[in-house]
Amino acid sequence: MARCEQCGNDYHSPIEITMKGKSHTYDCFECAIEQLAPRCAQCSTRVIGHGLEADGAVYCCGHCASEAGVQASA
Ligand SMILES: [Zn+2]
Ligand SMILES: [Zn+2]
Repeated sequence: MARCEQCGNDYHSPIEITMKGKSHTYDCFECAIEQLAPRCAQCSTRVIGHGLEADGAVYCCGHCASEAGVQASA
């Protein structure tokens, strides 16, 4: 049994994710995504895939990156 860091649910088969050397425990992927996935610096969409990282900011797509004035090749 482990308590979800996001919603506090005590779940019998939790998900453990190690990110940047720190271990996190969640009851479902949705909670993990809510807490760990970054948001697009331009439109605030949750970035669940690879996204696009430029100048230390994360963008959901090339469009948002270029809207933010970042030159992106993807
Ligand atoms: Zn949860
Ligand atoms: Zn975006």
